Amino acid sequence: MVRKRILQLAKYATGTTAVAGVTFIEYRLLHVNDVTVALSLLLVVLFTAASWGLRSAIYVSVISTLAFNYFFLPPVLTLTIADTRNWVALLAFLVTAVSASHLSERARKEAEMANRRRHESERLYGFSQQMLVTENLAELLSRIPSDVTLFFEFTQVALFVSERNRIYRSSGDAKDLPAERLREAAKSRELILEGTGILYTPLMMGVRSIGSLGVCGTGTLPTRETIEALAGMIAIAVERAIALERLTRAEAARESERLRTALLDSITHELRTPLTAIKASITGVRETPGMTGEQIEELYCVIEEETDRLNRLIAEAVEMAQLDAREVKLDIHPYSIRTAIDAAVEELSQTLAENPVQTDLPESLPMVRMDLAYITKVVRHLLENAVKYSAPGTPISISAETDEGILTVNVADRGEGIDELEQSLIFDKFYRGRGQRELVSGTGMGLAIVRAIVEAHNGRITCTSQPGYGSVFSFTLPIAY
Ligand code: ADP
Repeated sequence: MVRKRILQLAKYATGTTAVAGVTFIEYRLLHVNDVTVALSLLLVVLFTAASWGLRSAIYVSVISTLAFNYFFLPPVLTLTIADTRNWVALLAFLVTAVSASHLSERARKEAEMANRRRHESERLYGFSQQMLVTENLAELLSRIPSDVTLFFEFTQVALFVSERNRIYRSSGDAKDLPAERLREAAKSRELILEGTGILYTPLMMGVRSIGSLGVCGTGTLPTRETIEALAGMIAIAVERAIALERLTRAEAARESERLRTALLDSITHELRTPLTAIKASITGVRETPGMTGEQIEELYCVIEEETDRLNRLIAEAVEMAQLDAREVKLDIHPYSIRTAIDAAVEELSQTLAENPVQTDLPESLPMVRMDLAYITKVVRHLLENAVKYSAPGTPISISAETDEGILTVNVADRGEGIDELEQSLIFDKFYRGRGQRELVSGTGMGLAIVRAIVEAHNGRITCTSQPGYGSVFSFTLPIAY
């Protein structure tokens, strides 16, 4: 306040000095006529109005009128005026000076306003860009208050979202915007301005309010239009993120429903088939009179095989659930992929008896970061599938290549192949190829587990295939440096 007064006094003093200077030069040194004096004093007035505003300009107008009268209108060096025509001249000077000040002040204010609007539009634009960065509702809501504070230089900002009945603040200690006022603002339809630089606005989506925004600043608050545009922008962004979240939730619910149905379907089929076979075999042994030892042995074999299958199914379902829940702890170390491939081929020596495996690995393969047991399992499963879905005698090849810090392993077979539609489904849990259920035993969990393991290693698994010509399953692993 004191600073402002001192500044105003300094402006008066400078104005007085300017008028005194012009008067001195024209009275003492130049001896010009009255019109020239009036015009040059008018210039001082205009200059003052353009730079310092109306108040200083009126002061300069009055002292210029006095100086003009005292030094230039006869009788000079008195404040009296002899000729009535000079009264008119003096009055005309005063009126011109004051109205010119007015006009100049208005032009200055309009320029200032245009500048302010441009500045605010730039801030709005920057803020809108910032809001597009995230689609996640929780992140968006916690970001809005701090972003508004940053872009519009407020001291505190609070956002109330009715749907969540929660208030988000620019900082934890921002308490100048009380919760009750924000809730009231959400119900009102108007901007609420409170004395000390505090303002509340409802966030309107058409005629519906979805919350409110409260801002608190030390400087001049933005114009009403800017605040309304800001509130509109926030309302749209929040509403969009809420809608997206609802959609994602609905999709997740649909997906979980689909999985549940698939699981039920699989359980009824995959569990029932072995159970039925076991039950039928037991009934056969107990109730069929006169069975030979060989026949009984055969039924025991069925029981054993089907029990193993049941066991495998349950073990795979548990493993998948653990991988999904990220409960599996990987023991990652640098290994050569050759170790995993050799181990898998060794373990499957019997299964692979009818399908020759060609391994094509460059000598200088770099080490990769992996859990040896799990990656061996991945290779083993891909090899098992290659055997299961190819004719006996057809070859299976394993190759590896490196590119930009990544090692890719390919397992290729010359089997029946997988059509394009199925290629996108085979990695889903419980998905089994059309018609495979009846022909080949399996659970539909193998590739889902394989994918979960590869992804836990930050890798990717893909399948390329041409029906009738075979399939290539490729997975990547990060190279260890
Ligand atoms: P499962 O073999 O127990 O059915 P998987 O998850 O291992 O389960 O495989 C899912 C489906 O992908 C299989 O039912 C089969 O249709 C298809 N598939 C997998 N590997 C191959 C392959 N090498 N060639 C052709 N089809 C394959």
